[in-house]
Amino acid sequence: MTFEELNIIPSILKAIKEKGYINPTQIQEEAIPVVLAKKDVLGCAQTGTGKTASYAIPVIQLLQLETAAEKRNGIKALILAPTRELALQISECIDDYAKYTRIKHGVIFGGVKQQPQNEMLRRGVDILVATPGRLLDMMNQGCIKLNQIRYLVLDEADRMLDMGFIHDIKKILSKLPVNRQTLLFSATMPGAILSLTKSILKKPVNINVTPQYSPVETIEQLVYFVEKKDKNSLLISILQKAENQSVLVFSRTKHNANKIVRKLGIAGIASEALHGNKSQTSRQNALSNFKSGKTRVIVATDIASRGIDINELPMVINYDLPDVAETYIHRVGRTGRAGNTGTAVTFCSQDERKLVENIQKLMGKKMNKKMFPAKQKTV
Ligand code: AMP
Repeated sequence: MTFEELNIIPSILKAIKEKGYINPTQIQEEAIPVVLAKKDVLGCAQTGTGKTASYAIPVIQLLQLETAAEKRNGIKALILAPTRELALQISECIDDYAKYTRIKHGVIFGGVKQQPQNEMLRRGVDILVATPGRLLDMMNQGCIKLNQIRYLVLDEADRMLDMGFIHDIKKILSKLPVNRQTLLFSATMPGAILSLTKSILKKPVNINVTPQYSPVETIEQLVYFVEKKDKNSLLISILQKAENQSVLVFSRTKHNANKIVRKLGIAGIASEALHGNKSQTSRQNALSNFKSGKTRVIVATDIASRGIDINELPMVINYDLPDVAETYIHRVGRTGRAGNTGTAVTFCSQDERKLVENIQKLMGKKMNKKMFPAKQKTV
């Protein structure tokens, strides 16, 4: 299947070619025709499947064709995302896909000054990408009108619920026109999401691209059984062997992320921490240094890692295990993206063994086991 066969208009096809995409991914193949046919979508897809383009491309196309026929100003499409990193990442994708169209877009999120966002809105946008908290603030101040919304996208809906945005989302939804197309994407489908979908989606087409709980097949998954006190030595030895590779290390807490960065520094390995206590600017700098290859190692907490979108990230290391097994799937989904291979290494201390069992049960798959330090052979 090609993008041409999905009836994408030439101005977007040109941008897709420039991105270097050859063929649509599975979710794009399934979702693009459904969105273009103006149907609601309930998409169950993990990150790395190409889901952003699966909604962004057809929404840009529909708007481009509609705005040719009318000149009404106002925000026509709203994309809600849980974190500023993800919101920025979506906005960057729209930048790329819409560059040869008339479609204007903007992004708003908290933690930064509102003034430039007000000015951007005053100039006018067709598509607005937003995190729920800042959007609601600005709606309450009367800076944003959503009465012309025709397309609503909820991205990473499970994450938005996890982060406690449900009330904000309900308030936002109550201000949107009922007559609209709604697309909801979520990596997992817990009960709370299903009940939300019942109230906001109209006869949605279900799109489920990968079995709910299996990480991408191209990821090699290793688990090292290691004592807590040896985790730093193990990390250093893996990073030294993986010379020149970009590696994303996960830490459950911000405090531990800072500590790991310090220990790596002592061992002569430069790294940067990415977590919620860092300012927006330092998070963006850390991310762009990582993307450009200037920083080889990033130590991130789960929420901060959400916006990390790097093609060909070869390795992810779980320095410690997340409490919730699904989070493991999100973490390892950072590697092996868009058909590339990847390695996910997990450090498991004695008290974390149960968590590894839970993850393996959830995936229906075992990780390859290793010991650190490696057992000495007896002669
Ligand atoms: P997403 O699941 O939207 O976070 O996308 C994961 C990664 O796949 C991003 O880096 C995209 O740029 C990339 N990608 C999306 N669609 C395609 C495609 N059709 N071919 C190759 N790469 C793609």
